[in-house]
Amino acid sequence: MKKLIRSLSLLLSLVALTVIVSACGNKLSSRNVYKTDQQSKTITWGVKADTRLFGLLDTKDGKIKGFEVDLATALTKQMLGKDAKAKFIQVTSSTRMPMLKNGNIDAIIATMTNTPERRKQVTFSNTYFFAGQSLLVKKGSSIKNVKDLNKQKGTVLGVVGSDSVENVAKVAPDAKVLQLTDYAQAMTALKSGQGQALTTDNGILYGMSVQNPGYEVTGGTFVSEPYGIAMDKNQTPFRNATNTALAELRANGTYNKLLHKWFHNVKGFDYKEAAKE
Ligand code: GLU
Repeated sequence: MKKLIRSLSLLLSLVALTVIVSACGNKLSSRNVYKTDQQSKTITWGVKADTRLFGLLDTKDGKIKGFEVDLATALTKQMLGKDAKAKFIQVTSSTRMPMLKNGNIDAIIATMTNTPERRKQVTFSNTYFFAGQSLLVKKGSSIKNVKDLNKQKGTVLGVVGSDSVENVAKVAPDAKVLQLTDYAQAMTALKSGQGQALTTDNGILYGMSVQNPGYEVTGGTFVSEPYGIAMDKNQTPFRNATNTALAELRANGTYNKLLHKWFHNVKGFDYKEAAKE
């Protein structure tokens, strides 16, 4: 009898747990992000803080600054009105997806490429920056492109959670890939000689070369990296509003103004390529 009561109470607790878990799950997935943002007049964006030109923490005033931060601010006002507020939360290549899934942020605008693999988990807006994967090396390096990297069996530095590390392993299978936590650490590792090259998107590498004139972007791009704003699946109203606002900012010149504001110091920057949709 005692055994039966114990089994019954175990069964009951399991049922209760299932009900609680599914209720929570439903609550998260049924949250209409756009509706709640309209009510609060605030959008919470996940942005990079280690990536010069896109999103970089300015230690002087504690603010994150870059093209993506400005674009997110412009999108927020376009979507919710002039008095609306953009809130920024720092993400890295590896934390951005779990932070979105946990509901810490409404959307990711953080150098994130729209890939078929990621589309299994999230929805993307239309492209807002068309990048391509490339290499950063010390000036005068014997590595001039990804083929040299492979031939010389060099060590290439990358960041956990980026697709760059997977791409380079495919394109240069003989190279060794060393993964760091973020781009600040990857740059430090390149400077201290832990690798002969650093790989990620050209736009990010330009930011590093502006800051470190002894290093240059080399060999052109070897994989296309179109950036999209990522949001949780089934947030269709938010995605539609984002795409409309993005098209309006492209049409009214704001988008181009922001591109020029952030990339005018980059020698040979291809504005047409970056603005490709
Ligand atoms: N665009 C690439 C990606 O989404 C590399 C840049 C990054 O690490 O954010 O993985």
